[in-house]
Amino acid sequence: MRPETNEDEEERYEVSSSSTFEAFALTCEAISSTRSKLKKIEVLSNYLRQLQSEQDLQTAVTFLSGKIFPAGADECEVNVGYSTIWRALEETFGKSQDDLSSYYLRHGDLGSVAEEAFKTSSPQQRRILLSSFDSSDSEKQLTLSEVVSSFHELARAKGKGAIERKILILEALLARLRIPVEAKYLIRVLTSEMRIGLVEGLVEESIAKAFGRTLEEVRSANLVSGNIALVSTLAKRGELHLAKIEPLKPTNFMLADSAQDPQDLFQKFDSMPVFSEFKYDGIRAQLHKRSDIVKIFSRNLEEVGKFFPELVSSASKLEQEDLILDGEIVPFRDGKPLSFQLLQRRLRKKARSIEDVPLMYFAFDLLFRNSVSFIERPLSERVMALESLKLEQPLTLSSRRLVNRIEEISEMFSESKSQGYEGLVVKDPNSSYTPGRRGRSWVKLKKELDTLDVVIVAAEYGHGKRAGVISDYTFAVREGSDLKVIGKAYSGLTDLEIKEMTDLLKSITEIDQGYRRIVKPKIVLEVAFDAIQKSERHDSGFALRFPRIKRIRWDKSPNEIDTLDKVRQIYESQRVRA
Ligand code: AMP
Repeated sequence: MRPETNEDEEERYEVSSSSTFEAFALTCEAISSTRSKLKKIEVLSNYLRQLQSEQDLQTAVTFLSGKIFPAGADECEVNVGYSTIWRALEETFGKSQDDLSSYYLRHGDLGSVAEEAFKTSSPQQRRILLSSFDSSDSEKQLTLSEVVSSFHELARAKGKGAIERKILILEALLARLRIPVEAKYLIRVLTSEMRIGLVEGLVEESIAKAFGRTLEEVRSANLVSGNIALVSTLAKRGELHLAKIEPLKPTNFMLADSAQDPQDLFQKFDSMPVFSEFKYDGIRAQLHKRSDIVKIFSRNLEEVGKFFPELVSSASKLEQEDLILDGEIVPFRDGKPLSFQLLQRRLRKKARSIEDVPLMYFAFDLLFRNSVSFIERPLSERVMALESLKLEQPLTLSSRRLVNRIEEISEMFSESKSQGYEGLVVKDPNSSYTPGRRGRSWVKLKKELDTLDVVIVAAEYGHGKRAGVISDYTFAVREGSDLKVIGKAYSGLTDLEIKEMTDLLKSITEIDQGYRRIVKPKIVLEVAFDAIQKSERHDSGFALRFPRIKRIRWDKSPNEIDTLDKVRQIYESQRVRA
């Protein structure tokens, strides 16, 4: 299907009017048609350089990063399901269910289905449909900015009749396309599945190349601002140094390294004392305040304040004009943490009321206060600023102590466990806050050997009590851009969760083999296990002993799962210990 890479083909991708959606789609196709990273960067940087308007530049970079709207935008979801897209494709291209199903079986992706539907449709049919939309723009080529405004319309279509309205919006877009690859990439953008072998790192390199900046400058601006679209315009203007952290705009979270035991942890720090904090098991959240506006951002930088109204209301009463806190949202009642799983009820609006799942926000860092960024200041200073805030429940401070000796760490670890927390996070008091980086300044210590974050790639129906529901999950870890299967798990989820998983797995099925389904790698699980063994059974070369699902990580995306390298490390560390 893909064009071969040769000089002539690449010439074809030279496009005149860069602001059209056609130019974007052809660029994607050219990127997809080469495996060479250098070539991808060259094609993309040429395209980005040609984009005249900053708005178009931001849109293209957002789409290329597999997102529909930039990080922190008010609108973050178009809420368009597969069946809506399916119906719009049927109508626009005059296809039957069976036609589309046969294309889907052939390609396994909706974008390619759209491309094939376009290729095999009659131009006359499309013209008739186009004329029915009665728009003065219908003869003009579709631009990137028009696509963005239609996406906003899709996001705003809510309530009664929303699906019909969304189908019409999609049809109006599809009818204006001129070549099949446009249909392919329009749908891929919409489903956030670009599949062109372009990780965010390559987008960063392309931005650097397009505007003559260093990769380091682009990368650190991206880490601080958490917004690659914004970074692209700053790079164009030569203003990357202005990328800064500010309230109401999410930044990437600082990450923690892990240690096997207190001894191992102790050795990771060059000097004492260190801060030792309880590790809370909940949802990582940045709490932003500017005047009386409060927003809460989750790990993937989505605004989730609507799920936690009591936190928003308590934060809006704080006397500081502006503020950014980092912390963990934990289900909590009568002075004790509750099971993490309960938070899902709040996130999926299943809690009957706030009291049903009460919460606490444990603040452990302060990144911004009263017009001043604190991220480059040492943790000891950030902690002082944090402790000076007058937080009222459900906002509170994390438990923290300055410790000097291994024994103190072991003691605090037991204390944390006995109070129902997960372990400790130990931090260097002199360290700055490094967004998006996993360094040695924060080290976590948990109870099990370790857990792995994995993604489900296939699933099977259960037996006996579990007949009729999909309860057996095959999961994989990452190696480069590949997924390698490492095990299967049956236990750990509640009946209700299995029922919900069954529906979800059906909706992301790529190939239905009857009793078994190959699914899109979307659902991240945290699995615990007793040991890692070498095994011929799976293509990773390893298998987990007694794997059990600890929880579904709705907050993590598949590109955040653990790597085969981590599996090897754990395997080696057990051998040393054995
Ligand atoms: P993990 O999710 O196991 O990789 O552990 C790292 C996570 O622990 C962070 O992303 C936070 O969500 C969470 N966490 C809980 N308590 C703390 C704390 N006191 N300091 C930093 N992170 C914490």
